[in-house]
Amino acid sequence: MDFDKDANLDLSKVEDARGGGGGFGGGPMVVGGGALGLIVTVVLALLGYNTLGDDSTSPAPSSSANLAQECAVSNTQRFELVQCRQVAVFDDLRDYWSTEGAPALGAQYEDPRLRFFTQGVNTACGQATSAVGPFYCPGDQRIYIDLGFYDDLAQRFGAPGEFAQAYVLAHEFGHHMQYVTGFEREIRQLQQQDPGNQNKYSIALELQADCFAGVWTKNATGGAQSLIEGVSQEDIKSAIQAAGAVGDDRIQEQAGGQVNPETWTHGSAAQREQWFNTGNTSGDPKSCNTLNAR
Ligand SMILES: [Zn+2]
Repeated sequence: MDFDKDANLDLSKVEDARGGGGGFGGGPMVVGGGALGLIVTVVLALLGYNTLGDDSTSPAPSSSANLAQECAVSNTQRFELVQCRQVAVFDDLRDYWSTEGAPALGAQYEDPRLRFFTQGVNTACGQATSAVGPFYCPGDQRIYIDLGFYDDLAQRFGAPGEFAQAYVLAHEFGHHMQYVTGFEREIRQLQQQDPGNQNKYSIALELQADCFAGVWTKNATGGAQSLIEGVSQEDIKSAIQAAGAVGDDRIQEQAGGQVNPETWTHGSAAQREQWFNTGNTSGDPKSCNTLNAR
């Protein structure tokens, strides 16, 4: 994927809490154990954690000054850095969803925030370690990412490639759009009314986020101020590969214990690839009706 080398990155919605500031403090971190790699989403909220946004548990990020320096136009090597690529993708996602995606869905767009952290983080959805992988918390409308996840994505899940990283962020952004449209709330209500089918509803939520990632991919190079100048067939392959690589059910380790893999799944690899393709073919978020498609 190619980025606009001259573009200024907008850091106003990005919080950099890497290397402290966002951790739990004290005690060893629980990491690994095969729990890595799940693109966790609203699971904490669905489990009944406080999602009303007790922001007092959410410490201010240490500083975004380093990020501003690293990702400044004057740093000609900036797009070699995963954090700057992620910010560029994030800004491109904001551009697409605010100007085209949300209006197409008849939704009132609101920006999410993107917070980088290491090891552990306090959120309105509870505490989380890096072991949960990237996730979105509807309680504070933030996407949380420990960039170390991308090493695992490449090495353990066999999905290297810069666009695989873009896909992951686009998937989490898709969960934010589900908050914006009210689909996430609808799913949560359905799960309460119909507990026997919780799994099915969870999958519908995840597959729509994959479809939304595909929709953005199709539109990524559009727009007057697009930060992304090119998406190749190779890139799309690497996104599909990533969607499949994280498609297996795996046990997720949460701060509060383990999540039952029978209960929480993201859908099979084939389903995830299929819905990414649906979005990337149509370029229209209205094509992502995963709940009624089954
Ligand atoms: Zn997800």
